Amino acid sequence: YKNNIIRKKSNLLLWDKNNELIIAKEKAEKASKARSEFLSTVSHELRTPLNAINGITHLLLEENPKKSQLQYLSSLKFSGNYLTTFINEILEINKIESNKTELENINFNLKELLEDIQNSLKAIALKNNDAFTLEIDPNIPEYLLGDPTKLSQIFMNLINNALKFTKDGHVSTSVKLLSLKEGKATLSFAITDTGIGIPEDKLVTVFESFSQGSVEINRKYGGTGLGLTIVKKLIELLGGKIKLESIVDKGSKFSFDLKFEVDELHLVTKEKTKP
Ligand code: ADP
Repeated sequence: YKNNIIRKKSNLLLWDKNNELIIAKEKAEKASKARSEFLSTVSHELRTPLNAINGITHLLLEENPKKSQLQYLSSLKFSGNYLTTFINEILEINKIESNKTELENINFNLKELLEDIQNSLKAIALKNNDAFTLEIDPNIPEYLLGDPTKLSQIFMNLINNALKFTKDGHVSTSVKLLSLKEGKATLSFAITDTGIGIPEDKLVTVFESFSQGSVEINRKYGGTGLGLTIVKKLIELLGGKIKLESIVDKGSKFSFDLKFEVDELHLVTKEKTKP
């Protein structure tokens, strides 16, 4: 009883037999907030000088450097880009984890969005461009409402990975319409590759921060080990759940379902303008 009075005096909101639990939760929340603020400050502070390093490297590369200098500058450029990606990814994860990510709800054309991504990645695609395919169910409504930026980020990451881990093979992205009712469309997305695959014991951990397939894979392919963490969190933010199926040396399939509101206004406008 005495103990509870003291706690009440020290301004704790609730005090009952679960008191210890409430205190622990408050402490954890405070620690998590402090950690998040620290990460955010450090990342922002690092970004400013890094931008200067990247900018100057870019300028020097444009000034016809000697062959020996070119090698150093290229290495500087690679490291600068890596650090920039890394810092941006840390900031992104931090933002999602501290519930600061805001979702847009604007109309977008899914087919165009996916075609743009496909075209932008063609340059780094497989030797045989025919093996890099995009399949979109024609029954999907043309305009949907949602967050096209977050969607692009998800696809960029997953397709980039599929291409990175597939040398000679197939990488395909497919979207199917699962249902269309009451102005809502549920779509099923899948990114499939015939690359190196992921061992069974890594199927869950690849989604954890800084987790990579193995030391050898990391050395060979590079990367930060944060891409899939972001993808998983973004898909969950959009109301979906990522699923991974993979067999070593056969390939991987990342899939998820998402529900979108259909942009009815666009449908009406389209019908009206029909000749
Ligand atoms: P990274 O920047 O290292 O690619 P990710 O979080 O995107 O980080 O991926 C984590 C790890 O998951 C990769 O290092 C790789 O081992 C494995 N991985 C991801 N996508 C694929 C894929 N399509 N095929 C094989 N392995 C993959």
